[in-house]
Amino acid sequence: MKVTKSEIVISAVKPAQYPEGDLPEIALAGRSNVGKSSFINRMINRKSLARISSKPGKTQTLNFYIINDVMYFVDVPGYGYAKVSKSEKETWGKMIETYFTGREQLKAVVLIVDLRHPPTNDDVMMYDFLKHYEIPVIVIATKADKIPKGKWQKHLKVVKETLDIEKGDIVVLFSSETGLGKEEAWKAIHTFTHI
Ligand code: GDP
Repeated sequence: MKVTKSEIVISAVKPAQYPEGDLPEIALAGRSNVGKSSFINRMINRKSLARISSKPGKTQTLNFYIINDVMYFVDVPGYGYAKVSKSEKETWGKMIETYFTGREQLKAVVLIVDLRHPPTNDDVMMYDFLKHYEIPVIVIATKADKIPKGKWQKHLKVVKETLDIEKGDIVVLFSSETGLGKEEAWKAIHTFTHI
């Protein structure tokens, strides 16, 4: 999709604040610092609409970005940041669970992992959570530019095995730095948004 328009509509913490209407939503999840903001910005051709955070784990809101007036990206706060307190983690968990399990407009979750390393326990938990609730998942293995091309397939295999990926789930090799995988990621998103 050629994105010509994108803007933040609301930073929400509860359902009453979610945007009205029935446009499809694609949520973006990943551990702090994995490259989620960079992914969003690359997908929508913006330098810094989604905040590229110097302080991981800071944003504790669901950020709704409207794209070409036809769909939303919903940026979910990153997980796995050690300095977040237990009560903050609980608040995060409730907010995410409420959104993921109750939002009809949510069509799929883009789960962003780092191609360089095996997915973390938190990544596996998030994947299992989404599977449990039968929410479609698109896995993005980002930062591909940081490892040699000859090792991509080996690393992809580790990602798939560690997540115990279900047959048929899409895993996209990605780089926000080079734009690798951008078209494939949009194609995957379109299969769920039907736009
Ligand atoms: P977030 O916390 O998940 O939103 O992560 P950011 O998008 O802020 O990225 C964290 C750091 O990784 C930043 O320094 C980015 O410039 C860097 N980064 C993100 N994606 C890529 C990528 O595909 N390639 C490279 N080389 N660096 C990346």
